[in-house]
Amino acid sequence: MAKKENVLIVALACSQCGRYNYYTRKNRQKVRAKLAFRKYCRWCRKHTEHKEV
Ligand SMILES: [Zn+2]
Repeated sequence: MAKKENVLIVALACSQCGRYNYYTRKNRQKVRAKLAFRKYCRWCRKHTEHKEV
């Protein structure tokens, strides 16, 4: 029987240019809200909000 998968790989996209710059893991049971982090975007060359997609 397959093990129940509760950890998702999610992409974090820059809110300015929309590119996917980061990937992170998220526990579906513990984290129910959408993730958002301030991270450096090398395309915008500045820190921007990166949101889960
Ligand atoms: Zn960007």
